Amino acid sequence: MPELPEVETVRRGLSPVLVDVRIARLTQRRPDLRFPFPERFARRVDGHRVTALRRRAKYLLAELDSGETLVMHLGMTGRFRIEHRDGHRLAPGDFAHASQNDCAHDHVVFEMETGVRVIYNDARRFGFMLLIATTELAQHALFRDLGPEPLGAELTPDYLMRRATGKKADLKAFLLDQRVIAGLGNIYVSEALHRSGLSPKRAADVLAIRRGAANTRVSRLISDIQAVLNDAIEAGGSTLRDFAQADGAPGYFQHAFRVYGRAGEPCLRSECGCEIRRIVQAGRSTFYCPRCQR
Ligand SMILES: [Zn+2]
Repeated sequence: MPELPEVETVRRGLSPVLVDVRIARLTQRRPDLRFPFPERFARRVDGHRVTALRRRAKYLLAELDSGETLVMHLGMTGRFRIEHRDGHRLAPGDFAHASQNDCAHDHVVFEMETGVRVIYNDARRFGFMLLIATTELAQHALFRDLGPEPLGAELTPDYLMRRATGKKADLKAFLLDQRVIAGLGNIYVSEALHRSGLSPKRAADVLAIRRGAANTRVSRLISDIQAVLNDAIEAGGSTLRDFAQADGAPGYFQHAFRVYGRAGEPCLRSECGCEIRRIVQAGRSTFYCPRCQR
């Protein structure tokens, strides 16, 4: 499943072909994905210019000059492909695996006025697209309860300490709660907790307001969260299962995970070497080092 760094990678890949460009024609090849497509979808999009392409949590937000925003979520296997008029893909680093060329799962095609085609492909169809009035976006059910962006200035130690106070949930669940931090997912929580030396099984209250120690711990956790996300964005997003970058090139950051997917392998912290463990918390895999993470 694409996580925040992957979605950000897609945003950066799509921006040059979408922003400030008019959508000449949208073709919708089925009535729905996870949800039905917007009513009169093509008529509301055709001829309108994309004024900005933003990201909130794991949502891509294409702001249109019609006053509506096209909200796009990639679900499990959603991806975009960019094709020139001559059929060649736009970006370099292009090599496809079979599933990427499976046009049976091309569900939406945006033909831009430049002649570039942006194709949305989604084999499992857990993704979705919605059109929402831009002025109503912040109050929409998808967005109104979202916490701050993990890479934004609103995620401060004071904020996190306040949210953690009295919380009995384990740290893993707390950090995955989208009302606490928006867009942080399973992989990067495991990675950040390892960097911070915190056990995913500890109660979230360990981050709560106390003198001295907690503040340092929380500051460090925030900078570790930001570091793992920024590293992944820089590496072009990780490829897991079917995820591919917007230009069709697979990402490669998964090779750099320190704990995720490494059960039974040695911890990479110097002088540790303890075996990484996998446990299941709330139905999701957690990977951690029992020695480094307390
Ligand atoms: Zn270790």
